[in-house]
Amino acid sequence: MKIMNLARWSKHLKRLWGQNPTARRPCSLAACAITNRYASLHPLWQSPLTIPGGSRQSPINIQWSDSLFDPRLEHLEIRYDPATCLHMWNNGYSFLVEFEDSTDKSIITGGPLENNYRLKQFHFHWGAVSEWGSEHTVDCKVFPAELHLVHWNSCRYGSFEEALMEENGLAVIGVFLKLGAHHSGLQKLVDALPLIKHKDAIVELEDFDPSCLLPSCPDYWTYSGSLTTPPLSESVTWIIKKKPVEVDEDQLEVFRMLLFTPAGEEEKRMVDNFRPLQPIMDRTVRSSFPTNHRLKVLPRCEEDIDRAHNQATHQDTAHL
Ligand SMILES: [Zn+2]
Repeated sequence: MKIMNLARWSKHLKRLWGQNPTARRPCSLAACAITNRYASLHPLWQSPLTIPGGSRQSPINIQWSDSLFDPRLEHLEIRYDPATCLHMWNNGYSFLVEFEDSTDKSIITGGPLENNYRLKQFHFHWGAVSEWGSEHTVDCKVFPAELHLVHWNSCRYGSFEEALMEENGLAVIGVFLKLGAHHSGLQKLVDALPLIKHKDAIVELEDFDPSCLLPSCPDYWTYSGSLTTPPLSESVTWIIKKKPVEVDEDQLEVFRMLLFTPAGEEEKRMVDNFRPLQPIMDRTVRSSFPTNHRLKVLPRCEEDIDRAHNQATHQDTAHL
């Protein structure tokens, strides 16, 4: 599928909704489409932006059996300082928890990354019901919600804004949320959500450590992609955790009580705030854990690693 500009894409989607009102997985591009398929697009997607490039857009479906085990992928090191947590706010599309990022206090390093990346914010995407909500999928399986922790390359760039449009500018950790046990770490956020029900509402949040939202399993997939909201810049190294974390339905129900709209306007519930899947095109998803496909030679030293890596690039048509 060719990437088209947003105006054409919007028309295409409207046409699509018109023809297929029973689509299984409605999304934010036609907010409230499940109850009114002619509802207007979310304001975030209304501006006539052009999708840049279009060769490495996100999100994607991760096909487990197509991913390539890369033994060169190191353990992803995560060091967050809870004191850098600033506030939580409703930006009219999701709720964001933002961090003080003038120094390297909350960073990730290692894994597929060559530099330190500083934590800027995290946010979630979720569905109107628990049958859908995540942006990425695994073997076409959709999760009820997905957490994104957004970091910027503080070795190469001076600020998040500067890194935003650059290659290797951003690194985003994605974590799937599935239904299960109550999540006590998440509950601190859930308790504060009624205070930021409307767009632009903000509340201070002190000493929150986002590591509590990560699964203990270190395994991940990684691929080159983009932001999933405008400006959709193709600057993101995605790190998608293999294991989901469990949350209970009541916690997701509180997410769904938030509003896209500011106080005083007709209320629109903040649900289905995810972008549809994008074509994988000429990309390979690498895994930090063994899968069906692996590099042909077990590396023993740096030289072997490089040789094995190059060999695999040719043999498996991997694009690393
Ligand atoms: Zn996101």
